Amino acid sequence: MIVAEQKPLDAIKGMMKDDKKVLAVGCGTCVTVCFAGGRNEVGVLSSSLRLSREVDGKALEVGETTVQRQCEEEFLRQLDDEVGNYDAILSLGCGVGVQSLAERYPAIRVLPALNTKFMGYPSEHGVWEERCQGCGNCVLHLTGGVCPVSRCSKQLFNGPCGGSQAGECEVDPSTECAWQVIWERAGEQGSIDQLMNVEPPKDWSSSRDGGHRRIVRDDLRLPEADEG
Ligand code: SF4
Ligand code: SF4
Repeated sequence: MIVAEQKPLDAIKGMMKDDKKVLAVGCGTCVTVCFAGGRNEVGVLSSSLRLSREVDGKALEVGETTVQRQCEEEFLRQLDDEVGNYDAILSLGCGVGVQSLAERYPAIRVLPALNTKFMGYPSEHGVWEERCQGCGNCVLHLTGGVCPVSRCSKQLFNGPCGGSQAGECEVDPSTECAWQVIWERAGEQGSIDQLMNVEPPKDWSSSRDGGHRRIVRDDLRLPEADEG
C-alpha cells in the first residue's frame, strides 16, 4: 500500500491562510488502512481545525467527505456539485489523490494534509516499513524476495557493505541488514550459488532517473472519437 502520515496541525493551518470554508476529503483505500486519511481521520482532523481556528478567533467551516479512491476520476465525480461551495479542498489522500483532485478541479486550491512516505507494508501493529521504490525493473527473483533498492540503505546489488553488526544495518541499527536477510533466505532456498553471480550495474533509466514515467497499454486504450 501507499503509506502516508498526517502533517502537523500548524502546517495544515498554515496552508489554509484565511480560508473560511474548506472541504476535507478522505480516501477509502491505502491511507485508510494506514490510519492517515480515512473517514475517521477526516472527522478528527476537521474537529481539530474547527476548534483551533475558533481559539484563534477565525471561525472555519469544514465539510467532511470520503471517497473510495481519490486517485480515480470515477470516484471524484460525486464531489462535482459540492466543491464549488468551498474556498479550498483539504485532501487526506496520498500525493496521487491530491493531484487527481487538482486536475479535476483546477479552479480551486487543493491542499495536502498528508505527507506521502513510501510503498510499504505493516510489519507489526502501528509500524509500516518501506518495501518498494517502484524502480521499474524488479530484481526480487535474484534476492529471495527482499528488495535491495528500498531495504538496503546503500542500495547495494552484489552483497553487503561489510558494516552490518549482528544483522543490523550500519546506517540505521533499528532496521535489519537487507543483505543479511537475503543471505539467510538464499540459504533456506538452497540458492547461495546464484548470489555468487556478479550483477551488472543496474539500469536506472526505468526508475525516476529516466524522467516522468508512464505505462501505455495500446490494447486497453479506447479508440479516438471520430472528429468532425
Ligand atoms: S526491485 Fe524495484 S520494483 Fe522490485 S521491489 Fe525493489 S524497488 Fe520495487
Ligand atoms: S548494513 Fe546491510 S542494509 Fe545497511 S547499507 Fe550495509 S548492506 Fe545495506
